[in-house]
Amino acid sequence: SVAVIGSSSWDQFLILDRFPRPGVGAVVTACAEAGGGTAANVAVALARLGVRPLLVTTVGDDAWGQRLVSELSREQLELHLVPPRAQSSTDYCTILVSPEPERTILWSPGARLRLGDPLPLERVFQCRVVVIDVEDDDLRQFLLDLPAHVAPRTRIVGPLTHLATLPCERARRLAIQHDVLIGNEDEACAVTGCTSVDAALEALRRWMPLGATRLVAISRGRDGCILATMRETVRVPAFEVRAIDPTGAGDAFAAGIVYGLLRRLPLSELGRLANAMGALATRALGARAALPTRDELEAFLSG
Ligand code: ADP
Repeated sequence: SVAVIGSSSWDQFLILDRFPRPGVGAVVTACAEAGGGTAANVAVALARLGVRPLLVTTVGDDAWGQRLVSELSREQLELHLVPPRAQSSTDYCTILVSPEPERTILWSPGARLRLGDPLPLERVFQCRVVVIDVEDDDLRQFLLDLPAHVAPRTRIVGPLTHLATLPCERARRLAIQHDVLIGNEDEACAVTGCTSVDAALEALRRWMPLGATRLVAISRGRDGCILATMRETVRVPAFEVRAIDPTGAGDAFAAGIVYGLLRRLPLSELGRLANAMGALATRALGARAALPTRDELEAFLSG
């Protein structure tokens, strides 16, 4: 079983005819709204694959929060809502999608999990895999420091999203405590302070013996992904799809890695499955609209 701890957000999408430049602007050709947030997206992706994860998250005390909860309640997952601090609004993202398609996220921070929040720790650490996507690094450190009698035999998976915003040394100290690290090229570079994905990969591989990390998965958009263990590095090309909106591709990719780890897939098959999840996620507007069921994923992989 899998637990996912972290963010939920309400996403508003603006589809533009071109990317806006200062003083020039752009035309909005379509817009849409939908639930998002890395942790929630990963949990929904796993739910569609039939894993029934535990999602521990928080939403604000407002209409967006209610819509998120009603969306999440329709998925095959166990939802544990942590009450928001007083008068927190729901995390809100405005996502600009240009025709390439390329996307830019404007984030209005709202309710987020923080150190001291009442988390169902015992239930979380009964799970074999725990995906931690909390942006409060004190809470992340707390979860990583839990003693073995609270967090036995658990594999900790860390998306790099929030680690990439920390100063390098702090990011490194947190990163190496995760068994599995997953991120895109930019995040891998930011976490390691490198300017190329190959240098970032080398840095991450040098970190492995210093900590718990046994697998690094770097997604590269249309270029597929690189997966590395201490012994082996594989580069797996992406699938050809007609991408409409790349939002959530990285989250679907992360869910693919978790799902493949549960199935104990060898490295190259793991990369192929995660690429398939990412590719499928790009086929509709919104992070979750195009997430496949297990049958759809199988059909895509064998088709
Ligand atoms: P993020 O959303 O975090 O930036 P990426 O853009 O790297 O993540 O996408 C994650 C994965 O999704 C990629 O490794 C790739 O397999 C798949 N993917 C993303 N965009 C495309 C695309 N345009 N065509 C095919 N696959 C894609």
